[in-house]
Amino acid sequence: MRGGLTDAEQPARVVVIDGPAGAGKSTIARTLAQRLGLTMLDTGAIYRTLALVASRVGVSWDDAAGLATLCRGLPIRFETLADGAQRVLLGDEDVSEAIRTPQISAGASVVSAHTAVREELLAVQRALGAQGCVAEGRDMGTVVFPDATHKFFVTASPQVRATRRRDERLARGDRDVPSVDDVRRAIEERDMRDSTRQASPLAQADDAVRVDTSNMAPDAVVDHLLTLIEAAPEG
Ligand code: C5P
Repeated sequence: MRGGLTDAEQPARVVVIDGPAGAGKSTIARTLAQRLGLTMLDTGAIYRTLALVASRVGVSWDDAAGLATLCRGLPIRFETLADGAQRVLLGDEDVSEAIRTPQISAGASVVSAHTAVREELLAVQRALGAQGCVAEGRDMGTVVFPDATHKFFVTASPQVRATRRRDERLARGDRDVPSVDDVRRAIEERDMRDSTRQASPLAQADDAVRVDTSNMAPDAVVDHLLTLIEAAPEG
């Protein structure tokens, strides 16, 4: 019983994590979701999958109306594996790797800037998180889940974020990894586009707790967030 309601009557618990590229959101959200027994909602993967589909079917990343039409039938699903990792499925195809290329990263940032695209994907994201989730993205606390139980804004210095992104690519066996400076330039360009767009820009919600992860290991960040959540379970 919490607040006079049985567990079944409680609104679903939604924890949101927003922040710029390479701040560690995905790793933190995945572990936090496992520890809280919630599903993880990786909203960047939705924009990435849209960019991938558009490039395959020949819809320009600048064509807002064409992209909005693609959103309506986008057969995207997430599957959580035993170790907590997540697969992104487009129909029956596993696109988890295909959506992580530098080209698709840039494409996701371009397609996500269109208001029509964001409007189409709003309901998709809310439906995916309706049973409770740890949702990560850029506008979770400001637009998609404004009534989230807990809101965090996770960030780190550009140099640290670039180094992490480069290390992720090396760990994936990427043979063509650019220098840290080049990765840093690419993520700063993406952050600039994400923060300055008209539609739902990357922004910290007024009621979000800001966490700088520059000098923290992912497990330490998760422990810190869990402490904050446990101190105020109702938000
Ligand atoms: O988080 P990730 O790097 O996978 O996101 C890819 C891109 O998708 C971001 O650069 C951003 O442009 C867009 N995005 C967004 N809103 C979200 C999540 C991601 O605009 N909630």
